[in-house]
Amino acid sequence: MENCIFCKIVKEEIPATKLYEDSEALAFLDINPINIGHTLVIPKKHFKNILETPEDIMAHMMKIVKKVSHGLEALKPDGINIKMNNKEAAGQDVFHSHIHIMPRYKGDGFEPWHSKTKYKEGQKEEIAKKIISAL
Ligand code: AMP
Ligand code: ZN
Repeated sequence: MENCIFCKIVKEEIPATKLYEDSEALAFLDINPINIGHTLVIPKKHFKNILETPEDIMAHMMKIVKKVSHGLEALKPDGINIKMNNKEAAGQDVFHSHIHIMPRYKGDGFEPWHSKTKYKEGQKEEIAKKIISAL
């Protein structure tokens, strides 16, 4: 897609530090890392987010996430976060599907998840029913 920065990386119109590539997907270093080694895995074809990305492509991306996670062990992280932002409200800035792989270190101060809400009595079951009926 025109004007998509990740499509430009796929077409090698702009540079990226590639870690892995095959016919379907690409892994490269995030240019503004939360920690050194922060990597993005993208499909080579343009899909906006998880909802638009076909299941087999998502599955393939996850295989690469697993592969790169093992590679990141070379940096001796204390942990690894896997994250995907989908749509603006979830923090997506680049609207070409991508999965973040973020090496973590004890005390690095990056704490992305805090519980902000609680379920009311019976709400878990009601919500589960709603989601399951849409699967
Ligand atoms: P998101 O907020 O999930 O859409 O994340 C987009 C990510 O893409 C950010 O972490 C950016 O630092 C990263 N990014 C943007 N442009 C480039 C680029 N040219 N090369 C590598 N990473 C990039
Ligand atoms: Zn794109």
